[in-house]
Amino acid sequence: MRFVVAGGGVAGLATALALARAGQDVVVLERDAIDPAGPPESAFTMRRRGIPHYFQPHAFLPRGRRSLAEWAPDVLDTLVAVGAHSQDLAVKLHGPREPGDADLVYLWARRPVVEWALRRAAAAEPAVELRSGVTVSGLLTDTDGVVRATGVAVAPGEPVRGDVVVDALGRYRHPPGWPRGYGIPTDCGAVYYCRYFRLEPGVEYFAAPVLNPRGDLGYLGFNTGLPPGSCRG
Ligand SMILES: Cc1cc2nc3c(=O)[nH]c(=O)nc-3n(C[C@H](O)[C@H](O)[C@H](O)COP(=O)(O)OP(=O)(O)OC[C@H]3O[C@@H](n4cnc5c(N)ncnc54)[C@H](O)[C@@H]3O)c2cc1C
Repeated sequence: MRFVVAGGGVAGLATALALARAGQDVVVLERDAIDPAGPPESAFTMRRRGIPHYFQPHAFLPRGRRSLAEWAPDVLDTLVAVGAHSQDLAVKLHGPREPGDADLVYLWARRPVVEWALRRAAAAEPAVELRSGVTVSGLLTDTDGVVRATGVAVAPGEPVRGDVVVDALGRYRHPPGWPRGYGIPTDCGAVYYCRYFRLEPGVEYFAAPVLNPRGDLGYLGFNTGLPPGSCRG
């Protein structure tokens, strides 16, 4: 089957990779101009205008990390090789060990590097075609009793057809005529703000009882992530 994946963010790239490894043909259509061949550092200079949290830290929760280890161990290895940091929670558990405790490992990274590693792996799959600088502008459908997606309209270029269309355009982005997702954005009143710091040479990150040092000042909650965040420090 041929899959048309609209959007080349984390979801679109991971979907393309998984589909290709399951023997399917995939074309990924991404609006931003992106060169998949660059080094990890190049991910930090890309213009990702539709992703406000692009530069924020991203952690793989243990379940996500385990999934990655199962179906894309090469991507996990790549992330670790460029600086993503594993944090083993099992060492902080009290009491007898339970089956599955060994999977309680977080993976700390920065979003640009997560995307970079997925894009690199997807680009290396012969069954994946990555097209960037292409805006998905509508959904093509066939109506034969039921409405069935048959591809997408793009600008610039000819419509891209396929057997299945995957919506990976992000949460609230819908070209005209695109089916609406559930949920209405509301203001949650919270601000998500991050700073990156680098420890002085010889200074150790101190051990916290649970995950990372965190606290609540009443008007502000804070949480600290493990260095180096990702991408070689
Ligand atoms: C502050 C913050 C912190 C977070 N931290 C974590 C975390 O620690 N761990 C975690 O797992 N998740 C985290 N998340 C959630 C995670 O970032 C999202 O789940 C993820 O970004 C969703 O990815 P996506 O690929 O679905 O969408 P997006 O990242 O929004 O990607 C959508 C893609 O589609 C492209 N696109 C949009 N419109 C078009 C169009 N018309 N044509 C072509 N391409 C288009 C965009 O350019 C983009 O590449 C966090 C989210 C936020 C806001």
